[in-house]
Amino acid sequence: MIPYGRQRISKSDITAVVKAMKGEFLTTGPKVGEFESNLSEFVGAETIAVSSGTAALHCAYSALDLKLGDEVITPPLTFIATQATASMFGAKIRFADVQPDTGNLDPSKVEAVISDKTRAIVAVDYAGHPAELSELADLAARHNILLIEDAAHSMGSLYKGNHIGGIADITTFSFFPTKNMTTGEGGAVSSKNPKLLNRIREFSRQGLIRDKSRFEYENEGPWHQEVQNFGLNYRLPDVLCALGISQLNRIEEFKELRQKVFQEYFRNLGSINNLRLPTVREYVDPMWHLFPIRVPPNKRKSIFEALREAGIGVQVNYLPAHLHPVFTKQGYKRGNFPISEQFYDSEISLPMHASPELTNKRYHKKIAKILELHLGD
Ligand SMILES: *Cc1c(COP(=O)(O)O)cnc(C)c1O
Repeated sequence: MIPYGRQRISKSDITAVVKAMKGEFLTTGPKVGEFESNLSEFVGAETIAVSSGTAALHCAYSALDLKLGDEVITPPLTFIATQATASMFGAKIRFADVQPDTGNLDPSKVEAVISDKTRAIVAVDYAGHPAELSELADLAARHNILLIEDAAHSMGSLYKGNHIGGIADITTFSFFPTKNMTTGEGGAVSSKNPKLLNRIREFSRQGLIRDKSRFEYENEGPWHQEVQNFGLNYRLPDVLCALGISQLNRIEEFKELRQKVFQEYFRNLGSINNLRLPTVREYVDPMWHLFPIRVPPNKRKSIFEALREAGIGVQVNYLPAHLHPVFTKQGYKRGNFPISEQFYDSEISLPMHASPELTNKRYHKKIAKILELHLGD
């Protein structure tokens, strides 16, 4: 089975990890700062490495000091971690529907959901295609709230010529093996706001403060460190940072390979009836995490099964968040966000990763044949 997503590990990755394992520090050592500094340079904003994309989102919300009753606005078409981590602070999730072509948060649907309890707009770069960041940032600024970008799919993507990471108030990344680069498990949080960054760093390191100038205790002794707000352990170990450093060195190569796969899909599937391929806005340059196709909803299941039977490890991304039982028991139901629901009903994710096997002619012919068989009139 060809998986929908997969890591690309080289000898240099393995060498880097082994070297880190032979070193003095398995965690809290020099590889952490090196990875963070390389990430910061790449995305164009200071970046903190954490243990997963979920941890990164939890850290982002911690920086807002989210409290019971606060609200955050998210699209339904995302992985549930976008909502789960805000809900953990007692925040209420307000949904705004997505654009029918990109699957990204629709700015024109956001304003109606903003209230005096709203603390943040959370955009998700579905499939790696950046959301409408300018419009959303303007909206957030006008209402004096923050824009958070869940960029789990879009490490390496460009928006209006700028790398994802330095655009929203806070950006979060995931380095899970299917994502654009990997550390096994891992993630990162970027921001240009020092106050937010301080809180994020603290939250991800048990809330411990070591900066003397901020101590509430005076003259306790040279061992002293103190906690003023609770945090958790979301550190990324040196061993994984070493893998991250090595992977980040090759991200442009990964991007090119993914772009090639994207182009091959377009070339081979472009003329099939009743098949919708991804849209690309002219002001973005995505690093593709998914290749989402859309088919008539009544044929989705049979096409999905036929592809799986042929060894193509397709997926569906995503069951809209508001349709998970955790939200339906709060009263959400089908019909609430029709664009996300229609997107879900018709979506299949074809394999997308930086592997030469996905540019193979026979592979593409096989997929085209299955789709033609099911979609031809
Ligand atoms: C993968 C993903 C996450 C969570 O990242 P993990 O590293 O798996 O914790 C969050 N949001 C989106 C949109 C994702 O795809």
